[in-house]
Amino acid sequence: MPNGAQQRDMRRYAGNARKVWNLAFAQQQANHEADEKFASAMVMTYWLPAMKETFAFLKDSPSQTLQQVTTDLAFAYKNFFAGRADFPKFKKKGKSSDSFRFPQGFKLEPHNNRVFLPKLGWICYRNSRAVVGTIKNITVSCTNGQWFASIQTEQEVAQPLPTATTAVGIDVGIARFATLSDGTFIAPVNSFKQHQSKLSRYQRSMSRKVKFSKNWQKARQKVSKTHARIANMRRDFLHKTSTAISKNHAMIFVEDLKVANMSKSAKGTAAKPGRKVRQKAGLNRSILDQSWSEFRRQLEYKQAWNGGWLDAVPPQYTSQECPCCGHTAKDNRKTQAHFVCLDCGFAEHADLVGAINIRRAGLARLACGDTLLEVRASAQESTEDTRQLLAA
Ligand SMILES: [Zn+2]
Repeated sequence: MPNGAQQRDMRRYAGNARKVWNLAFAQQQANHEADEKFASAMVMTYWLPAMKETFAFLKDSPSQTLQQVTTDLAFAYKNFFAGRADFPKFKKKGKSSDSFRFPQGFKLEPHNNRVFLPKLGWICYRNSRAVVGTIKNITVSCTNGQWFASIQTEQEVAQPLPTATTAVGIDVGIARFATLSDGTFIAPVNSFKQHQSKLSRYQRSMSRKVKFSKNWQKARQKVSKTHARIANMRRDFLHKTSTAISKNHAMIFVEDLKVANMSKSAKGTAAKPGRKVRQKAGLNRSILDQSWSEFRRQLEYKQAWNGGWLDAVPPQYTSQECPCCGHTAKDNRKTQAHFVCLDCGFAEHADLVGAINIRRAGLARLACGDTLLEVRASAQESTEDTRQLLAA
C-alpha cells in the first residue's frame, strides 16, 4: 500500500529495470552476431556504468535493482539453454509485468505490516502469509495498478518422505480437465465461461471506441481486469487440484507432450483437416493448453516438496489399448468419450482408460530402468541452479 510518491518512484525503478534488461539484451544480441559468447551476469554488470552515462535517469534507481536485472537475464539464458524456457525477449512497456528486486538492504516487520525498502522507506502492506526462513530477496511488482512484494526465503528442510503410498496415472482432456486412474476425475471450471462472455463484451466495446481516447483507455482497463480475474481463478483452481493430487499419491504419471499432440490433432493437415477445429481453437483452447502445462509444472514441484515424484511417459497407444485384455486397436475408441474393447467388450470412459494405461506404462518404466534416479537428479539440479543464482 505505497503512497503517491512511493508509487511514482516504484514505477520509475520498474521502468529503469526494463530499460537495463532491453539494453543488456540488445548488447547480447549484438555480441552474438559478432560470434562472441553470451556474457555472464558478472560481465553484464560491467556494462552498467556506460548505460548510466548514456541514460542519466538510470542513476535514480537503487543500483542493486539494476544489477539484479543482469542476474535475471543471465538466468533467462541459462533456462533457455537447459530447455526449460523460451529464448529471452525484449520487455515492452505495459505488456510484461513491471518489477524490480532488492537482494539486500530491506527490513521486514510482519507484526507491523510494513516493509522497509532502500530509497523508498517504510511501506505498509497486507500480509498474505507468514514469512518462514531467512529472507533472500524482495521483488516488487505491479499488476493492473496493484503493487505486490514477493519475499523469497531460504530454509533447511529434511528430505521429506511421502505420506501417501499410491501411484496414479493422469489423463487430461477437454470434457474432463483431468481423469485419474483410480476413477476420480476433475471437471473443468465452468465459471470461466461466464467471465469469458463478459470479456468478449468488453473487448467489443473497446473496439468501437476511438483508439487512445479516454473512453478507450477505460474500456481497455476493464478488459485487462477481466483477464486478470480469469487468470486468478484458473491459478486458484490449478493449485487446489494439484495440491490435493500431490498429497494423496506418492507417484504420479502423466503423458508426455500431450498438449502439443492434442493441438495438432485438432488442426489436422490441409489434405485431411481435423474435426471440430473451431470449437478447439481460440481463447478456450489456449487457456486449456496453458492450464495443462501449468498443472504439470505444479504437480512436479509439489511432488518434490512432498517427497514423491512425477514421471512423464511417452504417449503410445494409451488411448487405444484395452486395460483388461491388452487388445490394441484404433476402433476400440468409438468416440472422444467412449472406449469399448472390440475383443473382450470392456467398456469405460476413454479418459479413464487413458489414465490406467499411463499408470501402467509409468510403473513399467520404473521397473526396467533408472528413471527414478534420473527424475531425482534433474529435480536436484534445478534446485541447485536456483541456489547458485541467489548466491551470485
Ligand atoms: Zn479387451
